[in-house]
Amino acid sequence: MERFYNIVNGRPVDSAEYFHSANPATGEKLGLVQQSTEEEVALAVEAAKAAQPAWAARTDSERGEFIQRVADVFQQNSAYLAEWVTREQGKPLGGVGPGQVPGSLFEIWACETWTRATAEIALPVDVVFEDANRRDEVHRKPYGVVAAVAPWNWPLMIAVWQIIPAIRAGNTVVIKPSEYTSIASLEMLRIIADVLPPGVINTVSGGGAVGAWLVENRDIAKIMFTGSNATGSRIAAVAARNIVPTTMELGGNDAAIVLPDADPRAVATGVFWGAFLNMGQTCAAIKRLYVHEALHDAVVDELKTLVEGALMGNGMAPGVMMGPVQNRPQYEKIKALVDDARARGATIVCGGNPIEGPGNFYPLTLVTDIEDGAPLVDEEQFGPVLPVLRYRDVEAAIESANRIDVGLGASVWGSDLARAYEVANRIEAGTVWINQHGAVHPMVPFGGVKRSGWGVEFGVEGLKSITQSRVISIGKPSA
Ligand code: NAD
Repeated sequence: MERFYNIVNGRPVDSAEYFHSANPATGEKLGLVQQSTEEEVALAVEAAKAAQPAWAARTDSERGEFIQRVADVFQQNSAYLAEWVTREQGKPLGGVGPGQVPGSLFEIWACETWTRATAEIALPVDVVFEDANRRDEVHRKPYGVVAAVAPWNWPLMIAVWQIIPAIRAGNTVVIKPSEYTSIASLEMLRIIADVLPPGVINTVSGGGAVGAWLVENRDIAKIMFTGSNATGSRIAAVAARNIVPTTMELGGNDAAIVLPDADPRAVATGVFWGAFLNMGQTCAAIKRLYVHEALHDAVVDELKTLVEGALMGNGMAPGVMMGPVQNRPQYEKIKALVDDARARGATIVCGGNPIEGPGNFYPLTLVTDIEDGAPLVDEEQFGPVLPVLRYRDVEAAIESANRIDVGLGASVWGSDLARAYEVANRIEAGTVWINQHGAVHPMVPFGGVKRSGWGVEFGVEGLKSITQSRVISIGKPSA
């Protein structure tokens, strides 16, 4: 069986232990991934530390050129990487552009797009104060070695969101991909590392213990974490002990509110993809849909038609729009939440029963006649199930949206933009979209509020967050 290696200081590492990565659509074993040891993690951090001063000493435009080369290799290896993402993560290959299913090819396109955009952002010296007596400048400096810990849902794109700004700013990186999607991630990181100086990007692989060794390492100067709240809390505790800054991109439970003046047909496609993109395994996906009672049945009907028209299967097959759930624990969690909703008397409009077979296939499921407080509404399902809640009063819908202790994204749908804006402005989330959901952009800061985390990624704000400010304060000679 093929083995996939980590890259440390530009070279593949050999490990004593390996684990299997499997295809969630078929159960087929795809290859062997290294189980990094504590010592191997320490060596990866050491390599990143040794490479960092020379990388930081390059000019900003030199680093920008390297990053452009990384964007080029995404373009050149798009088909190869997309195939690995589909085989290991499960999302369909899909395509890029209007009418295409946003699957693995879209993920690689996003990697390239974010990388190019980041290559073009600069953080010039900012003169924050100047008068006859003094001049004060803020310079943005890299932290040093950044630890990146990534999840399995968008394994390549989220890794890119972490590591490209980090190296753009002059940091070096050690990254640990999710144990569920290591092959696709390691293949991408190998290809990227090839066009960068040795040691700028280094990788380790394995489960939570390997991630813990990485973030605990005393040479880590900044932690970028994307994943669950439970793991985020553990990492935040380590960071507090070591006094290391963190960016925490954690879970959400995005509410979408369909206002009484919305056109059910016009909003249905956006709501469908907002909820079911990547089988609902997206941090900023619609996880609770609040629909005004006047439109409730019409919206549910439109969604049901779209759900029934979405072909589910192995993402390598043409025409497939929905793949499997990525892993068994996630599949079991979804199943338990739907079973609990059913037991509470909710209506399962479509789906609701797992599909037998070797893969982790769970049908797209719409659930109605369910209330706030039910676990399917209050917990992050992170899967292909959407609870639809009926409301009478917009004030009550806003209250429902805000009653949960996480706040990553949210959306408001309606025809009167001024009214939608007014509602959006009262929702407690890092991003509130109007008549769209999950529409992230490389120049627009993205991050959560409340227990969805802290810090932002993307654009100038995101790049700043991976640097530290240093002030040079010049006293002017008195005239
Ligand atoms: P997870 O927390 O289980 O795992 C994430 C990563 O952390 C994995 O690489 C894992 O091996 C590692 N890890 C586990 N224990 C660790 C420890 N003690 N120390 C260091 N690393 C450790 O999350 P997941 O299941 O992979 O991802 C799904 C979750 O991520 C969902 O809650 C989703 O909403 C969230 N998410 C958030 C964003 C965002 O931008 N806010 C984006 C994607 C996913």
